[in-house]
Amino acid sequence: MIIVMKTACQESDVAEVMLRLDRSGLKGHLSTGVERTVIGVVGVISAVPDLRERLELMPGVEEVIRISRPFKLSSREFKREDTVIRVGDVSIGGDQLVVMAGPCAAETREQVMSTARIARAAGASILRGGAFKPSTSPYSFRGLGEDGLKILAEAREETGLPLITEVLTPEDVELVVRYADILQVGARNMQNFILLDEVGRANKPVMLKRGMSATIEEWLLAVEYILSQGNRQVILCERGIRTFENYTRNTMDISAIPIIDKLSHLPIIADPSHGTGKWYLVAPMALAAVAAGADGLMVEVHPNPDTALKDGAQSLTFEHFQELMKQIAPVAAAVGRTMAGKRA
Ligand code: PEP
Ligand code: MN
Repeated sequence: MIIVMKTACQESDVAEVMLRLDRSGLKGHLSTGVERTVIGVVGVISAVPDLRERLELMPGVEEVIRISRPFKLSSREFKREDTVIRVGDVSIGGDQLVVMAGPCAAETREQVMSTARIARAAGASILRGGAFKPSTSPYSFRGLGEDGLKILAEAREETGLPLITEVLTPEDVELVVRYADILQVGARNMQNFILLDEVGRANKPVMLKRGMSATIEEWLLAVEYILSQGNRQVILCERGIRTFENYTRNTMDISAIPIIDKLSHLPIIADPSHGTGKWYLVAPMALAAVAAGADGLMVEVHPNPDTALKDGAQSLTFEHFQELMKQIAPVAAAVGRTMAGKRA
């Protein structure tokens, strides 16, 4: 349910409505837009008799609208304007196209530093890299942990690129927050509700990747966990889903990009590296994602993909990444976006 306030309402009217919701065992989330102020109501609304009718009688209330969709705070009904998230000099979700690039996992200082330098010079605006790696097999590389975070933070200092890195467990949030500019919640954790609650309480933007078997509705409901804890800085990331097709690692769901744009005010990033699993499919899917309206890309880059400890098959060499960045600019321009990063 959302409560649309009158344009001329008083602050005290809003406070009264919030108080009424609180007393009814519900929670109000305020969205102050350019055109209108709305209050999103979450909780068991059906348990409060005549709630809608009563709220409509309160001073300052224009109307009360039921949201039929199960997700609320992420919906366009709650907030019409796009959410734009500022990280350093970069804006995610506005007119810029943001490229997040870096290795799947931090392996060595040299590997991270050289990749970060190339990424920045080619026009990337955010550095990616994992220190805590989710792994399908317990025998493959699981990341350097805090040592990896230190290396990534050093690369951030040198290049000035903000850092996005994955947090795997609720217990690690406090540690990862100290190093990261954006917290990544991976596909395998999309429905780890305890972790979602925890990052929802963090004072850092969060990028939530789509679970490999998640519907768009399940994904947006997972986002609600973060938003309803008070963290409004959430980015979505389409990274491919499981289908019967096994030529590719995952099937990149390009249609999810315009669907998210229609349903939600949150920014949407595309990850063609995990979305395909094959390096030579990364560029075509990256261009398709930009054309489809993505706010940005996440791309894995490695100095020597053939010796990478993780995801080598889908990692771009420096040369291929530089080539991709040149191809992206005209496609971005064609859909009215400017590149967030500057090519050196
Ligand atoms: C990653 O970004 O390296 C990663 C593990 O992604 P996903 O959670 O999409 O598999
Ligand atoms: Mn990876």
